[in-house]
Amino acid sequence: ATPTSLTVGIGKGAEQGILIRSGDALQMASRLDVIVLDKTGTITKGKPELTDVVAATGFDEDLILRLTAAIERKSEHPLATAIVEGALARGLALPEADGFAAIPGHGVEAQVEGHHVLVGNERLMAERGVALGRLAQEAQRLADEGKTPMFVAVDGTAAGIVAAADTVKEDSVAAIAALKRMGMEVVMLTGDNRRTALAIGRQVGVDRVIAEVLPEDKAHEVQKLQLEGKKVGMVGDGINDAPALAQADVGFAIGTGTDVAIEAADVTLISGSLKGVVMAIEISKVTMRNVY
Ligand code: ADP
Ligand code: MG
Repeated sequence: ATPTSLTVGIGKGAEQGILIRSGDALQMASRLDVIVLDKTGTITKGKPELTDVVAATGFDEDLILRLTAAIERKSEHPLATAIVEGALARGLALPEADGFAAIPGHGVEAQVEGHHVLVGNERLMAERGVALGRLAQEAQRLADEGKTPMFVAVDGTAAGIVAAADTVKEDSVAAIAALKRMGMEVVMLTGDNRRTALAIGRQVGVDRVIAEVLPEDKAHEVQKLQLEGKKVGMVGDGINDAPALAQADVGFAIGTGTDVAIEAADVTLISGSLKGVVMAIEISKVTMRNVY
C-alpha cells in the first residue's frame, strides 16, 4: 500500500470510530489468520449479575450470600460487584470483613464474623484442600448454562455456591460469523472455567475455546499461536489483556475498557462492538488493494 492509501485507510477507520495507530497495523490487519477474543467485557458486556445461590446441607442461602458479599465488597472484580448488588437487592445487611486478600485468577478470602471465608473457583478449592462433595455436580450444572459458579468455603468446609451470568453483546454473534466468513479462525480466551466458557462459546459460535487461563498467561497463549506460524489479532478490554494485546500482531482494544488495554493496543474500537474488528479488517483489505 502507498503512504497515501494508508493515510486514507486510517481516515476511513476514524470515520467509523476505529482508531488505527499506524500504517503498519493497518497493513497487518489484512493478513490475520486467527482472531483471539477475550470473553468478559469483549464478547460479553462484562456486567455479570447474580443468578443462583446454593447452600450445602447445614448452611442456608442467606448466610452464604451475606458472608460472600461481605468479602466481595472489598474486591473490584466484576463478579464481586454482581454478588454485592445481588445481596443488597435481597435486603441483606453486610458484616465487616477483615484481612481481605485477592488471589488473582482464583478468588478472594477474608475473616467474617469470626470465620475464615474463601470464595472462588474449583482450582482455588483444590489448592486449599476443600472437598466439594455434591456441590461439584451443582457447579457443573450451572456452568453448562453459561453461568460462572463460585464456591464458598467456611472454615475449610464447602458451604455453598454463588453463581453469576454475563450477557453477550448484541453484535457479538454476527461479528464472529463475519470473521469466520472472511476465513479467520476465531478463538475465545478466558480465565473463566472450561464448562462455562464452552457453553458461551457454543452460544456465540467461536471455533475454539481456551479457558482457565491465568491473567499472566494470556500473552503466552497468543505467542503459542504465533509459533504455529499464524498471524494473530487479539481483542480485549482489561488490564489482564494488555500483555496479550502487545504480543499480538494486531491488538484491538475495546474503547470502553481500561486505559492500560488501550495503550497496549494498535487499534481502538470506540463503540466497543466486535463489528469494529470486522470493519477494521475490511478497511485493511481494501487499502492493500490500493483502491484509494
Ligand atoms: P475473567 O476476567 O476472564 O473471568 P479472572 O482471571 O479475573 O478471569 O478470574 C478467573 C476466575 O477466578 C473467575 O471466573 C472466578 O471463578 C475466580 N475469581 C476471580 N476473582 C474472583 C472474585 N473476586 N470472587 C470470586 N471468584 C473470583
Ligand atoms: Mg475482559
